[in-house]
Amino acid sequence: APRLAIDDVSFTYPGGSEAVVDRWSQTFVAGTVTALTGPSGCGKSTRLYLLALLARPTAGRVLLDGVPVERLSDPVRARVRAHRFGFVFQDAVLDPTRTVLDNIVESVLYRHEDPATFVGRAVELMDRVGVEVPLHRRPAQISGGQAQRIALCRALLADPDVVFADEPTGNLDRATADVVMGAMRDHAAAGGCVVIVTHDPTVAAQADVHLDLGPQAA
Ligand code: ADP
Ligand code: ADP
Repeated sequence: APRLAIDDVSFTYPGGSEAVVDRWSQTFVAGTVTALTGPSGCGKSTRLYLLALLARPTAGRVLLDGVPVERLSDPVRARVRAHRFGFVFQDAVLDPTRTVLDNIVESVLYRHEDPATFVGRAVELMDRVGVEVPLHRRPAQISGGQAQRIALCRALLADPDVVFADEPTGNLDRATADVVMGAMRDHAAAGGCVVIVTHDPTVAAQADVHLDLGPQAA
């Protein structure tokens, strides 16, 4: 059974006149990396929000391990996100008041786990994605590409069942992008389900499944 299934989902933004997502069906299987591509404005980020339970479909169903989740209450959906999902959004928002290490390990507070027990894992992940910054640095003192990889370490820290990443290689050179995709592929190989949005064909080619959403229907 798929980890996530989108079943005939449509989505219109409040006040919007047309559906950004129109009768979309798709499954996402554990052990795979899926890349969503397509022109700007075609609804890639919106699809990621629907999958990540950050937006609710206007119509249709979203199933997690076969269970419909689109109508669950906000607190229950937040709990599902915290326990099962990891996110890397485009601007890789780190907390500017916290150190690099705390930004990574304090994400487990959402899961009611002890950040102190995740320090070794955080250092391991930083090494895996090739980010060499002192653990006590603040986000203002590191580059955008480093911040993006720190955000990825945060997302992977607790081995979430699903990882969502919006342009995870956006600020990175080719070699570093390959390292990041390697980490995504490792996560999938270990049984995770990874869904990314990218505009980079080389990155999309490294995914197991490539969904090209094409131009928006007129
Ligand atoms: P992509 O990620 O492919 O660039 P998006 O999912 O961000 O596309 O956006 C799809 C469409 O939805 C665009 O036409 C965009 O202008 C519109 N849109 C995105 N966010 C909102 C919003 N909060 N309210 C209204 N329209 C939005
Ligand atoms: P809100 O907009 O409701 O304040 P956020 O956008 O900060 O929430 O995050 C949405 C949900 O995703 C949170 O309720 C939380 O459950 C989860 N979440 C956010 N950041 C993380 C993180 N770094 N690690 C794990 N879960 C997170």
